[in-house]
Amino acid sequence: MNKYLKIIEDSFVGYFDYLIQEITNPGWTNYFYWLIGLSLLVFALEISIPWRKKQPIIRKGFWLDAFYILFNFFLFSLIGYNALSNVGVELFNDFLGIFNIENLVAVEVDNLPVWAQLLIMFILADFIQWNVHRMLHRVPWLWKFHQIHHSVKEMGFAAQFRFHFMETLVYKSVQYIPLAMIGFGIEQFFIVHMFSVFVGHLNHANLDWSYGKLGYIFNNPRMHIWHHAKQLPPQHRYGMNFGLTLSIWDYLFGTAYVPQSGKNLEIGFKGDEHFPSNFKDQTLYPFKN
Ligand SMILES: [Zn+2]
Ligand SMILES: [Zn+2]
Repeated sequence: MNKYLKIIEDSFVGYFDYLIQEITNPGWTNYFYWLIGLSLLVFALEISIPWRKKQPIIRKGFWLDAFYILFNFFLFSLIGYNALSNVGVELFNDFLGIFNIENLVAVEVDNLPVWAQLLIMFILADFIQWNVHRMLHRVPWLWKFHQIHHSVKEMGFAAQFRFHFMETLVYKSVQYIPLAMIGFGIEQFFIVHMFSVFVGHLNHANLDWSYGKLGYIFNNPRMHIWHHAKQLPPQHRYGMNFGLTLSIWDYLFGTAYVPQSGKNLEIGFKGDEHFPSNFKDQTLYPFKN
């Protein structure tokens, strides 16, 4: 037990040093500056070619979401990822040790070219996330946490990061452990992660985009707005369009739903008018209810 706590501690301390490094050393694999750059790019698109022209540039919840970006991306997502991945690998190796197995390589990804490794990792991670997202809608106590993401009433890019920090734990533990088992680490994660952030920003952006035929592979603003629909159709009682970066899972498994333009669709959930609107109360909400 102590060993795992030590790993968690080292991960956090190590991460803090790393964060300081990031901010003070701009570079091509720098999370901090990529996040800011991508955010400004998508924000500029929203301002120049908005889908809902009447929606204010500084929409309802904009500053709250800006805070969530900082909190979830920097203070939680990467730290959680770092700590969990280190613990995950150790736990897995210890587990194998019980059976006297030194290394179990289910898929020998090391022998593949880097692009193929990244592609496999990306597709696998996205499919796992799609399943987790479905669970967030189906399991009542998980839905309490996920409601925060669905409390957005005016959609814009930064809404991507409005979610409870518990979601990071749920997603990362479920997603990372299988990835760690087949030998992926945080180093390879950069490109995949930034790409997902970019597509996620676009999914929530005030943009009338669906990428034509590519929309059947990639999630997009016209599709994701329906995920946030306040009124759910009877055939999708637990929601639809659960895709994170890829939309293909929804098309494959029958949960895709884009009946018409969702431009003026009312978003939220039943009873959202009583939902807290600040960070503190939103964070405490699932624990109190
Ligand atoms: Zn959702
Ligand atoms: Zn969303």
